[in-house]
Amino acid sequence: MKQMMRIVYVNGHFLPARQASISIFDRGLLFGDAVYEVTACLDGRLIDNAAHLERLSRSLDALGIDLPMSLSRIETIQCRLIADNELTDGIVYVQISRGTGERDFLWPEAITPNIIMFTQSKNLRSPPLADRGARVVTAPDIRWKRRDIKTTGLLAQSLAKAKAKEMGCDDAWLVESGYVTEGSSTNAFIVTAAGKLKTRALSEDILSGITRRAVLSIATRSQLEVEEAAFSVDEAMAAKEAFATGSSYFVLPVVEINSSQIGDGKPGPITNQIRQRYIELASLTL
Ligand code: PMP
Repeated sequence: MKQMMRIVYVNGHFLPARQASISIFDRGLLFGDAVYEVTACLDGRLIDNAAHLERLSRSLDALGIDLPMSLSRIETIQCRLIADNELTDGIVYVQISRGTGERDFLWPEAITPNIIMFTQSKNLRSPPLADRGARVVTAPDIRWKRRDIKTTGLLAQSLAKAKAKEMGCDDAWLVESGYVTEGSSTNAFIVTAAGKLKTRALSEDILSGITRRAVLSIATRSQLEVEEAAFSVDEAMAAKEAFATGSSYFVLPVVEINSSQIGDGKPGPITNQIRQRYIELASLTL
């Protein structure tokens, strides 16, 4: 089969990935001074992209980085990358750094942001992990305190994931003062013994997940009782069901937390129903 050339976008140019480059003085590279978004794509169509672009704009605002082009122009480029790479199911990544400058903690007044975008193909509808359910371990949340800003400073999350893998697990849920904040790249949910859906309330402690928001709306419309409140590790381990949400996973069932089986050790019925509904809605409304 003919190997397709991967096309990426860098600062105004659509290029083969091998020819794309960015300065070694990019502040995203030197200081993690950059924000990003990951939008899922089904059948070549972006899911909930307006919400992702709105969050991108909020992240940039919080750091005082200028939007280098309009949000609609960003969407046009995302769509062109989907087409050029013949992407059906997968994700589109957008990253904007403050720009390039001599290495200095302080940036010059006149600095132009760098913007890069690329696509990744991914089985989002029925990945084996969603059928089997994820095994999760908890880990201390050692991140900075503005987790509502989606920055590329993801080392703490990478280390937590690596630790989970070392322990034979699929992911880590992060914990602060005994309470789960969120997954390393997801929002964390449980279904309590009483059948109530519980996820941490929005604050600077967690990312305001786009999938989280969609799932809460599905749950409410399905007459599920919902509580936005922190839950402890003990509560999570005793839950009837657990799952994680994120654009790269949709709704990922969790079947084990710290070696403790959740429910009967299989993805729970409420979780599966929400996952199904999410995929249906995403396919329908877009
Ligand atoms: N929390 C964290 C820390 C994340 O990295 C992500 C995914 N980027 C999420 C939650 C889920 O957010 P979303 O549903 O918008 O992908």
